[in-house]
Amino acid sequence: MLFTERDYYEDVVQMLQDRGVQLPDIAELVVSGQKDYIPDLSLATAIDSVQHVLHKTEVQDAVMTGLALDDVAEAKQLPEPLQERIGGDHATYGIDEQLVMSILGIYGTISWTNFGYLDRVKPGIVGKLNDEQHNGGRVNTFIDDIVAAIAAAAEARIAHD
Ligand code: MG
Repeated sequence: MLFTERDYYEDVVQMLQDRGVQLPDIAELVVSGQKDYIPDLSLATAIDSVQHVLHKTEVQDAVMTGLALDDVAEAKQLPEPLQERIGGDHATYGIDEQLVMSILGIYGTISWTNFGYLDRVKPGIVGKLNDEQHNGGRVNTFIDDIVAAIAAAAEARIAHD
């Protein structure tokens, strides 16, 4: 594959890690999401699919943008009233879900369905991030949707094969 610009794969993996998200955490969502369809799906195959997704420029940009907004909100550096909207993860604030459409747009309708499930049920790391913020911890407004979208995309990749 020819890259005309730098690949930000290592950067985004590090950014996720700095926020407490390891690739196996995302891969576990993939394995459990596909268990009814591919009961013998290995964690290694799921990690491989997550890595493929994280090599896409659109995905890298979504990760960088979303995580930066969380961090700036965590530092209370956003202008008001946006600070209140993102910092408080307002129920009617939906740009976090809109941002990940740039990921789901690549992987088609299967990934939208997977994302809808992960967003509603919030299993594993998605729920952990959501709970952290809602229990008075750090701002995770964007990262929970980003992680759910990466898992949803990785599942769709596997389903398409
Ligand atoms: Mg969110």
